[in-house]
Amino acid sequence: MRTLASLAILAASFAPPILADDVGATEPAPAAQSFKLGTLTLTSLRDGQFVAPNDARIFGADAGVAAVADVLRTAGLPDDRITVSIDALLVRTGGHVVLIDTGNGPKAHGVLPASLGIAGVTPAQVTDVLITHSHGDHVGGLLDVSGKPAFPNATIRMSAAEWAWVRSKPESADLVKAIKARVRTFKPGGMVAPGIRALPLDGHTPGHVGYEITSGKERLLDIGDLAHSSVISLEKPEWAMGFDSDRALTKVTRRATLAKLASDREWTFAPHFPYPGVGHVVVDDGAFRWVEGTP
Ligand SMILES: [Zn+2]
Repeated sequence: MRTLASLAILAASFAPPILADDVGATEPAPAAQSFKLGTLTLTSLRDGQFVAPNDARIFGADAGVAAVADVLRTAGLPDDRITVSIDALLVRTGGHVVLIDTGNGPKAHGVLPASLGIAGVTPAQVTDVLITHSHGDHVGGLLDVSGKPAFPNATIRMSAAEWAWVRSKPESADLVKAIKARVRTFKPGGMVAPGIRALPLDGHTPGHVGYEITSGKERLLDIGDLAHSSVISLEKPEWAMGFDSDRALTKVTRRATLAKLASDREWTFAPHFPYPGVGHVVVDDGAFRWVEGTP
């Protein structure tokens, strides 16, 4: 999703008449669920949850409310809202403690620090923070409640294109000032930590990437914001998503990446799918579907 203050802006922009009582950002209980990928220990960390009204402003922006409602009903879900989780992924690999994305941050009700604590990790122990992209629900947690770097010993890595975009946004000035000494950029395609490769997943933001983690014969791709809803984004990958910077390019990337994940039977972590966000993309009756599960 969007800028550092995205959820607050979203909440403010959906005036009360549009909102049901339970629409908007909510603060879930902290959670940390660990699983093995080959010899590595990965942990899904819960940060937040957001409930968007079905108003065709975010999901199905070019399809309309009725079409979105139809997909939701067919999946057995309420047809007036879309609930997305906000999670991050912890990877302990080769002496590195790697955190992929940081959630909303404590100023926007993020509970990631408590979830990290459940996993037995302190912020000072994190050695590398890998950023998929710079929307607020992924970089908000880079700062603590006082605006200081939340992971004082970590190198922060993101694509060069994404960092250039962050630096160009006036609303990110405080974030840039706080983290710039610790940021190291990369060109997508190469290794960014032991066993972790950054893959370009173009379109959502100017430098959006996924991170592919490999251990032995096992592989898992953290898809970042390639897909937001485990139902709508998979059933209708060609529908526009309101937060995609380049909607046409994202549609192509989304379909091609989902097809590859399904054909390769690759494990997938999706930060916005229902917690813990781990499973497989499969093809069923001509459409992509999400099957939850851990290695
Ligand atoms: Zn997001």
